[in-house]
Amino acid sequence: MSYFVESLRQLLGLKPIKPTPEQIPIQTIYKEKRKTPLSREALHAVEAGHARSANRHKWRNRRWITLIVVNLLFVVSYVLDVQLVEGALTASRVIGFHLADLNSALQVTLAYKHIVVNLLIGTLTVLVLWILLGGRTFCSWVCPYHLVAEWAESLHLWLAKRGWAIDIQFHRTVRAVFYVVFALLALLTGYTVFETISPTGILSRALIYGPGLALLWILALLVFEVLLSRRAWCRYICPIGITYGLVGVVSPLRVQYNMRSCHHEGDCRKICMVPHVLDVTIRGRAQGLTTDIGADCTRCGLCVDICPTSSLSYTFKGLEKAL
Ligand code: SF4
Ligand code: SF4
Repeated sequence: MSYFVESLRQLLGLKPIKPTPEQIPIQTIYKEKRKTPLSREALHAVEAGHARSANRHKWRNRRWITLIVVNLLFVVSYVLDVQLVEGALTASRVIGFHLADLNSALQVTLAYKHIVVNLLIGTLTVLVLWILLGGRTFCSWVCPYHLVAEWAESLHLWLAKRGWAIDIQFHRTVRAVFYVVFALLALLTGYTVFETISPTGILSRALIYGPGLALLWILALLVFEVLLSRRAWCRYICPIGITYGLVGVVSPLRVQYNMRSCHHEGDCRKICMVPHVLDVTIRGRAQGLTTDIGADCTRCGLCVDICPTSSLSYTFKGLEKAL
């Protein structure tokens, strides 16, 4: 199954296709793995050593800093009135250029039913940028709601461990259904309905122009996620994830899985916001010795950080040898 097709299937909420023995040289792969055996005790020792390592949160820390700096740029620019970056994340002007996040540009186009010329150059610039940067990288490296929801997720996990929170899981196809619903709403009402409830835009505007009543909606979302359904907005509703996921399908920046060194204990799947993309790490699911993780991956780096055997790493297609 090609990366392109598998990524589209994942974005639509379909289950990853399991390889059949005829499809893949499973025996060859496992024969390769047997060359570097690692016992359970040895794996625990590797995990313990990794947990103490200074690199344990390398990518997470880089990502948090990037996300905070990007969002602060808008705030500082507004407060100091330097007009370097004007507007908010969803629609802005950078050094005079009109820019819009790709999902907002799509919603505006559907609502106005024509291509807004002012936005065209900026949107194409943003498109090229996100193709290079990985598509859903927007979610984990820029979106302010992602960061708040990530912190709320830690609280959810803490509560769930004690039996004080549950995780209701919905079918992942509901996100694709919401995508169509929001697109139709823009088309039929002539109004960008999604933008009014998008926590990404609400938080970005609140940071820049000050808090408003819309923050109560964010609070309600977070309470729902903490007590009832882990990362519900990002997993099951937000159309921004699908828009940037589609961009990620053609992006050369990916997370790559190397099954040779993997021991399939699944630490990566426990921490990932979109664990279905890591099904390939389940024993017997890999299609080859290395597999690129599908475009629904947000390139957050949490799995890269947590993997005790360095079986997951960033890759930039075409530049592997140079990196
Ligand atoms: S890739 Fe996942 S399952 Fe494999 S060793 Fe790393 S954390 Fe464990
Ligand atoms: S696969 Fe890894 S990088 Fe991608 S979203 Fe999951 S944890 Fe983040």
